[in-house]
Amino acid sequence: MQDHYQVVIVGGGSAGITVAALLANEPVAPEMAIIEPSDKHYYQPIWTLVGAGVFSKEVSERDEADFIPPGTTWIQDAVTTFNPDHNTVSTVDGKTIGYDYLVVAAGLQLNWEAIPGLKESVGQPGTGVCSNYSYDTVASTWDNIRHLKSGTAVFTHPNTPIKCGGAPQKICYLAEDYFHKAGVRDQIDLIFCSAEPKIFAVEKYANTLNQVIERKHIDARFRQNLVALHPSQREADFDHLDTGERTTIPYDMIHVTPPMSPPDFIRHSPLAADTGWVSVHQHTLQHTVYPNIFGLGDCSNLPTSKTGAAIRKQAPTLAQNLLSVMHNQPLVASYNGYTSCPLVTGYGSLILAEFDYDKQPEESFPFDQSQERYSMYALKAYALPKMYWHGMLRGRM
Ligand code: FAD
Repeated sequence: MQDHYQVVIVGGGSAGITVAALLANEPVAPEMAIIEPSDKHYYQPIWTLVGAGVFSKEVSERDEADFIPPGTTWIQDAVTTFNPDHNTVSTVDGKTIGYDYLVVAAGLQLNWEAIPGLKESVGQPGTGVCSNYSYDTVASTWDNIRHLKSGTAVFTHPNTPIKCGGAPQKICYLAEDYFHKAGVRDQIDLIFCSAEPKIFAVEKYANTLNQVIERKHIDARFRQNLVALHPSQREADFDHLDTGERTTIPYDMIHVTPPMSPPDFIRHSPLAADTGWVSVHQHTLQHTVYPNIFGLGDCSNLPTSKTGAAIRKQAPTLAQNLLSVMHNQPLVASYNGYTSCPLVTGYGSLILAEFDYDKQPEESFPFDQSQERYSMYALKAYALPKMYWHGMLRGRM
């Protein structure tokens, strides 16, 4: 197999495929390879509704092969090492692959093992421990929600950057709505334990979310960080991040959002910033040290919320700037930190948060998006998945 390409893309998830599709749609497309180990591609945003029983998890899965743009080579392998001084990457299968330009889009790493007791219990029947954060565990969320008739349901948000900062609370609101509809709400205590200092970083949306929490009688506790699970006793330990005080909460079900980090192979590479994420300029997405390298999506150090919606704006910026570098032109495309979080507050209601690096709302619709609306729920549940599979992943933005 050829071992040098004009453009090599590391990771064939939301970001990698979108950039590849945009470049492949160019009148003169560069010669490209995508290095991606998985033969499946996942639309992760729908997992919130899978966990709430609205869809089956199978709707989120497609064959990776169907999204590799025509003319692009798919190398089904995983990168282990970056050698940017030699313009090569090394892989698990022992290959060395050369490039003129590199795009790093490898997502982030879920650290289940960082919480003692979590890895062995999450998703396992009879444990009460579930998570929307992986294809393998998402169905267990719905199993737990629909079978709970009384007791305590706990929902966690860790003290690391995470993908989709709103997802830990969305499933809490959906569970509350389900318990209400099932007539068991009065028998269940709902506790939302977040390591964050407040419910949401953007005040406009936080104001409505605080009302939602009050209306739903959810016991929201902040600066509470999950540090251990004791599955046999069904107890969870939380440390208060300011006082250090430890609290143990007994649970009947617990939805855990695991701690997340840059993938180890990026964190220990010359491409990493001090934080371990790929170090890129926040407006051009070009690497801060190596001008022929770009990065985007969850693995990047872009100081915005890690979402697919952010990638929808990052990818065209990156593609345009990469083409400019290839043609010795100045970099003119600029990303402003746009990100979006569809905050589902129940079956049929949603607050569509959209904002930029400065946490200023940047809304798409001509109405106040901080209000809960059915139309925005319908957008998330029915329109956005189609736009993802048929638009974004085909480079039609
Ligand atoms: P990914 O899509 O995760 O892709 C990374 C790819 O890199 C993977 O295919 C992986 O196999 C590959 N890879 C890993 N290691 C290597 C390696 N060593 N070599 C080569 N390839 C490698 N976003 C929204 O916009 N709206 C939402 O409502 C929303 N809700 C969410 C709810 C949940 C429960 C979750 C989990 C996510 C949600 N997101 C949402 C976030 C969104 O799914 C991610 O931000 C997005 O998928 C990130 O894209 P990415 O390409 O950076 O990473």
